[in-house]
Amino acid sequence: MSVQLESRIGPVLDITRSAARDVDVSGRFPSEAVTALRASGLLGLTLPTEAGGLGAGPQDLVDVVSGLAGACGSTAMIYLMHVSASMSIAAAPPADLPELLPALASGKWLASLALSEAGSRSHFWAPVSQGQADQGGVRLKARKSWVTSAGHADVYVASTLTPDAQTVDLWALPATLPGIAVTGEWHGMGLRGNASAPMMFETVVPEGNRLGAIGGGFGLMLETVMPWFNLGNAAVSVGLSEAAVSAAVRHTSAARLEHLGESLSALPTIRAQLAKMSIELACTKAYLAQTAGRLAEPADDTVLHVLGVKAAANDAALHITDSAMRVCGGAAFSEHLQIDRYFRDARAGHVMAPTADILYDFYGKAITGQPLF
Ligand SMILES: Cc1cc2nc3c(=O)[nH]c(=O)nc-3n(C[C@H](O)[C@H](O)[C@H](O)COP(=O)(O)OP(=O)(O)OC[C@H]3O[C@@H](n4cnc5c(N)ncnc54)[C@H](O)[C@@H]3O)c2cc1C
Repeated sequence: MSVQLESRIGPVLDITRSAARDVDVSGRFPSEAVTALRASGLLGLTLPTEAGGLGAGPQDLVDVVSGLAGACGSTAMIYLMHVSASMSIAAAPPADLPELLPALASGKWLASLALSEAGSRSHFWAPVSQGQADQGGVRLKARKSWVTSAGHADVYVASTLTPDAQTVDLWALPATLPGIAVTGEWHGMGLRGNASAPMMFETVVPEGNRLGAIGGGFGLMLETVMPWFNLGNAAVSVGLSEAAVSAAVRHTSAARLEHLGESLSALPTIRAQLAKMSIELACTKAYLAQTAGRLAEPADDTVLHVLGVKAAANDAALHITDSAMRVCGGAAFSEHLQIDRYFRDARAGHVMAPTADILYDFYGKAITGQPLF
């Protein structure tokens, strides 16, 4: 990580880390961490410098997101949703909202993605809600089942079927529009501060709030949102895995079996588990770095990396955090080591769309020459 980024993220990590436990226990939005992120300039990390962003690349995103996840998984996912939504806006800025990109880059506005619907579940590419032509623009009625930062974001990027139902549009919907409401509560086993509640978007928007040309949403979701989201989601998994390995090594090295005069880490079974965790983490980090490189300089296998890295990192995080629970025994179960938080938070990435299992299916299709859809 560059010195410039380190000086930006250092103070954010201090605030994020000290709030993390309370955020998890009380299931509250990490407002202090998000305020620190807004002030740090990191909300504009990957946005173009012409819009006021930092113009940083995929590896910088990996470093920032994995660092945040090691401090607080909820904050890291809120940040990633902002970046994923912002990158789609940067790729196809809505004509009527020229002030939007600079507001996202400066940290004035927090963004999120509203893609998932109860009707199509984790098949995020297939909204069932549909826009209807209306005199004043397009009438939207989209019931979204999970929206990270629901009620806290300043703008939502939401998907609908086009009025002719042939393909998908993405819309930039400022939170101040009438007809936008949080319609339920968020209670998750992990990422408990994420505010990933259901929302209703029932509003008429000008055509100029659409990202790009009519029907461009499908391409944006697959070519812009998915690469950045999958990379960042894998980085969340790696950050949580890294925190779990460190905590497990620390605890098993310090915990004593006084009657034997040795530490837990002196037991061969424990040492072997720690070794497996550490090796799986190293392999996943290498794959993640390679994928960041493929996004910075696209190659023939970039798509395979985009599909594979999230699935691999999500699965690694499940194994690693599970092993951390195991080697730390009742001490991990009793919460004070915070390993249970990493374990619970790590389960979210796996089921977030595109889910790990869907990605394995896509990857299998890709290497056997079958169309993804
Ligand atoms: C913490 C959290 C935050 C979220 N934030 C957002 C957000 O900000 N915005 C947003 O739009 N959504 C968000 N989501 C929703 C998320 O992206 C998924 O849509 C949601 O988790 C899917 O849950 P489901 O029960 O509908 O899954 P289902 O679709 O019912 O899947 C159930 C199981 O079936 C498997 N499966 C389904 N289809 C296939 C297939 N074709 N091949 C192989 N396996 C398959 C899945 O992998 C999964 O294991 C969030 C979810 C979580 C947990």
